[in-house]
Amino acid sequence: MLDSPTPAPGANSSGPAPGAPLVRLRGLTRSYREGERIHRVLDDVDMDFGRGERVALLGPSGSGKSTLLNLISGIDTADQGSVEVDGTDLTRLSERDRTLFRRRHIGFVFQFFNLLPTLTVEENLLLPLELAGQVSPDDRRRASTLLEAVGLADRMGTFPDRLSGGEQQRIAVARALVHRPLLVLADEPTGNLDAETGLLVLGILDDLVRESGTTLLMVTHAPDVAARADRVLSVRGGRLVESSSVQGTTVLPPAPSGLRYPPR
Ligand code: ADP
Ligand code: MG
Repeated sequence: MLDSPTPAPGANSSGPAPGAPLVRLRGLTRSYREGERIHRVLDDVDMDFGRGERVALLGPSGSGKSTLLNLISGIDTADQGSVEVDGTDLTRLSERDRTLFRRRHIGFVFQFFNLLPTLTVEENLLLPLELAGQVSPDDRRRASTLLEAVGLADRMGTFPDRLSGGEQQRIAVARALVHRPLLVLADEPTGNLDAETGLLVLGILDDLVRESGTTLLMVTHAPDVAARADRVLSVRGGRLVESSSVQGTTVLPPAPSGLRYPPR
């Protein structure tokens, strides 16, 4: 139903080597000044993320998870090191080119949904497409397909404040995928939802990224969420380490009637 991500224009002319990871972090370092002191939040991080890989990021509050996502999206800039996405080193792009790259190739899901309150559900959903260029009839069809996939096809003209938190996050999930990104970054996407709703939203996100072959990096505190990922990493002492401490899995609840996310 959903198409695979489009290859990245704007990548270096020869393109990424076949089989190369989608994301390559090398020597990534980011510090913040705290009064007199320098706090090195990320310290020489090396890591690769494969195409279509679904990665859970754990770590205590303040350990640098959001900082890492912000560096990978090019919202924040590193002190040292490189961030390559699909063969393009974001640290070598101008701020404008980084913004264009991000709009085109990256989708986001935030803890607080971040829908624009003055836009309808449909307008919120079409926004990433409008930012990336003109909206084609094919784009509109994709937006409708995604709305259906998240079970909210009948809410196109509704404003976000009429939706529950779970519904808003389902729209945000559709919005994160509407422009066929290569990479979706999710920062505690269930952090503001009750457990059951959180699992429902994650089930939808998981199905959609799997189906479209999109890479997912997701910050979470919930072990049962992390257990669904292909890989679990922790941010600890400024480093990113493979984590094997996730226990317990939770079976996702069945989709409520009328919700037609694709079967696993
Ligand atoms: P996490 O997402 O794991 O909770 P963050 O990445 O948000 O942690 O923050 C990591 C550390 O960096 C914290 O100590 C935080 O205070 C600090 N930090 C993050 N962003 C900034 C900033 N813009 N200015 C100063 N310090 C920051
Ligand atoms: Mg955070």
